[in-house]
Amino acid sequence: MAINSESLRKILELEIKKGCPDTTVFGGLDRFLANWVNQAKAAITDRNLLKQFSAVFQSKTGYAGMDPDRRKKWIDQVLAMLQVLENPAINTAVISQDVVSDSGKGHVLKIARRKKTADAVHLHAAKAKEELDASITEVKGISEALKKKFEKLGVTSIRDLLYFFPNRHIDYSQRTFINRLIIGAENTIIATVWEAREVQTGTRRSTEATVGDETGNMRVVWFNQPYLAKSIKAGEKLVISGRVTVFAGMPVFESPEWEPYEEKELIHTGRLIPVYPLTQGLSQRQLRRIVKPAVDYWVQFLDDHLPLYLRNKLHLMDLKHAIAQAHYPDDEAAKNEARRRLAFDELFLLQLGVLKRKRFWQKDQPALPFKIDQPELKRFLDSLPYQLTQAQEKALKEILNDLAKPVAMSRLLQGEVGSGKTVVATAALILAVINGYQGAIMAPTEILADQHFKTMRTVLSRVAGSEPDESGIYGFHGFLSRQIRIALLTGDLPQQKKKYLQQQIASGEVDIVIGTHALIQEHVEFRKLALVVIDEQHRFGVEQRSALRQKGTNPHVLVMTATPIPRTLALTLYGDLDLSVIDQLPPGRQEIKTRWLKPEQRAAAYHFLRQQIQKGRQAFIICPLVEESEAIQAKAAVAEYERLSREVFPDLKLGLLHGRMSPEEKESVMKRFHAGEMDILVSTPVVEVGIDVPNATVMLIESADRFGLSQLHQFRGRVGRGTEQSYCMLLAEKPTDIGKERLDLIEKVHNGFQLAEEDLKLRGPGEFFGTRQSGLPDLKMARLSDVALLELARQEAIELFRIDSELSKPEHRLLAAELERVWRNRTTGEWS
Ligand code: ADP
Ligand code: MG
Repeated sequence: MAINSESLRKILELEIKKGCPDTTVFGGLDRFLANWVNQAKAAITDRNLLKQFSAVFQSKTGYAGMDPDRRKKWIDQVLAMLQVLENPAINTAVISQDVVSDSGKGHVLKIARRKKTADAVHLHAAKAKEELDASITEVKGISEALKKKFEKLGVTSIRDLLYFFPNRHIDYSQRTFINRLIIGAENTIIATVWEAREVQTGTRRSTEATVGDETGNMRVVWFNQPYLAKSIKAGEKLVISGRVTVFAGMPVFESPEWEPYEEKELIHTGRLIPVYPLTQGLSQRQLRRIVKPAVDYWVQFLDDHLPLYLRNKLHLMDLKHAIAQAHYPDDEAAKNEARRRLAFDELFLLQLGVLKRKRFWQKDQPALPFKIDQPELKRFLDSLPYQLTQAQEKALKEILNDLAKPVAMSRLLQGEVGSGKTVVATAALILAVINGYQGAIMAPTEILADQHFKTMRTVLSRVAGSEPDESGIYGFHGFLSRQIRIALLTGDLPQQKKKYLQQQIASGEVDIVIGTHALIQEHVEFRKLALVVIDEQHRFGVEQRSALRQKGTNPHVLVMTATPIPRTLALTLYGDLDLSVIDQLPPGRQEIKTRWLKPEQRAAAYHFLRQQIQKGRQAFIICPLVEESEAIQAKAAVAEYERLSREVFPDLKLGLLHGRMSPEEKESVMKRFHAGEMDILVSTPVVEVGIDVPNATVMLIESADRFGLSQLHQFRGRVGRGTEQSYCMLLAEKPTDIGKERLDLIEKVHNGFQLAEEDLKLRGPGEFFGTRQSGLPDLKMARLSDVALLELARQEAIELFRIDSELSKPEHRLLAAELERVWRNRTTGEWS
């Protein structure tokens, strides 16, 4: 019989809210309780639980006799108790222990469930938490030596072990008989060993056994495992699971999983069996032997942080159950339900985290609302030699909408290279200045900062130009009602000049500062920073973003990226940001002709490249992605550069760019390439995003199959910046099937967002761009391609903050703690 705790919980929560006046139930809580407690007691079957339950409800004074302080504490206790009672895993585990399923859903095997001790359930929550964070050496069977191996798998605490999920499961749940084996498939039999002996199989020493059941006999071979001949005894009954092949016309099991058929739980055979990620010196069997009992025992210490009402509403399995089922599921359906629950958790906590961050930014101080001066804006837009595209106009409108509010804008502006993000950002910055505030743009490199600076100067000088003062501050006036002074602040400025600039920024003499990381250094202070624009957002960490944010009094923030990010991923990585997308290029842009070439077409590719150079154009050659190590990549690029210079283009001017060069060297190479002093730039994949060399029309990418679609698209965007037709050639030696699919797509598809979606589908989010470096919690179960679950998690997270903004309600306490735990050390301490 189930315990109906719903009504009591509601009453208690209401009481707490009111300050415990005992007015929630007519006639007082004690009267209500008397009835409820008796019913509940009848439903509790576990003796220990009953004892604890009675202790909580045994009070001399009754609720009426307690003071409000005491009442509150007592209610907390009762709510914790209810949490235990409401957890079906605990109750059913207790009630249904020793259930023997003989022919349950797909389970023909007799699997005796290990007796679960209910005692530990009653441990105090805090204590349990401590235990779970203890080192895995606390787990039976894990020595110091094994601990090191587990560390390689990312498992250091007991909690990690519970969350150390298998990559997949093998279905050994269907028992069959020797006369009904399906050749080539996974089969499970229960058979008696007639004989087991060591044999020589080719060069290997192996074990061969003859086994039989009531329908026949067959051979089993374990290659390379001669020692099994000693441990497997004649007369012993085994469960054997594995693939069956045919040898000399007879079925044979080849190196199957096996274990004695006894009255204990099967962990290698006879059910859905987990396949864990391995590391050297830790075998699959060994892992299962450790993980199964560890999960069985320790899972009871987990508190379910999802409130019951949410679990019920979303039909989610409870946590203990889900963890256990994720390792050793009862059946396929249970496995899927467990995954759904755990994946929801990950996405939900992720969304709660990013939303909380956003709330933090928007909560404390109000931001400075801008007056949207339409006539001034119009004057600026009219001064441009072109009209904004519809997409630009829409994005600008969304930005202006945010700026007009006293809540800090947090907006992500996405748009392909050349889609015209900078102009939109400039319009917003000008508006800041007209309102009497300062603005800033931060770019990831000096080259890009410099490019922005130049673009802005060009844009502003349409009507009236200006010469810079001796410190490099440009002032513009003419079409606007007031002068606009802009300056470039980068790390390589001479000390004195930098210092002077910093003073000018601090005193408000400079209106718009364009810069690199130099902007977020300590000694840079603004007088009235109200709008911050961050370019190429994904290259900055959360910390750097917030450092710049802190330079102002809660300034509006616009982050821009040319890397198209699929919506689901954007919501996950940047769920704290609102999204604007410029999904349209200015008219007249040429499509970059893209071809995937066979290895034997290499000479033709070089020939084509040479023809373009003879027409006065320039080219990029991207070296293969050798390894993650910059040093090795650099070495490979140097070698390729030398080979090309010597053997292929001895008469042309080649340049080299790689990640091991100093910023000055890189800068100088880029400048010379930009100035047309080189014909071909040989580069590792570091070639800067956003670099604009209009005369470059050819790009040759080596080992193109090794890059992701988004990255290829980024590379391709380096050409086609001018008026000439541009080309992108892709070389691939031996592409895999997925590699081929990617190359086909990049040839045909020219829309960055579409490519990004495909990329996500083909490669998964982990590689899309290192989620790890973005400071977000790991996703183990969730797939970012699971849009429906992600949207659900986001919606529920928003709803939760709506009903309990501080997560302070008793039913949300465990959730708040889990949120804190998952996000600890992940953020900048902007919120605790
Ligand atoms: P992004 O920063 O998105 O890569 P930019 O803002 O640098 O793009 O714009 C790329 C180029 O396109 C610039 O030279 C800019 O002047 C030009 N441009 C921007 N918007 C338009 C437009 N609506 N029509 C024509 N050209 C435009
Ligand atoms: Mg740009």
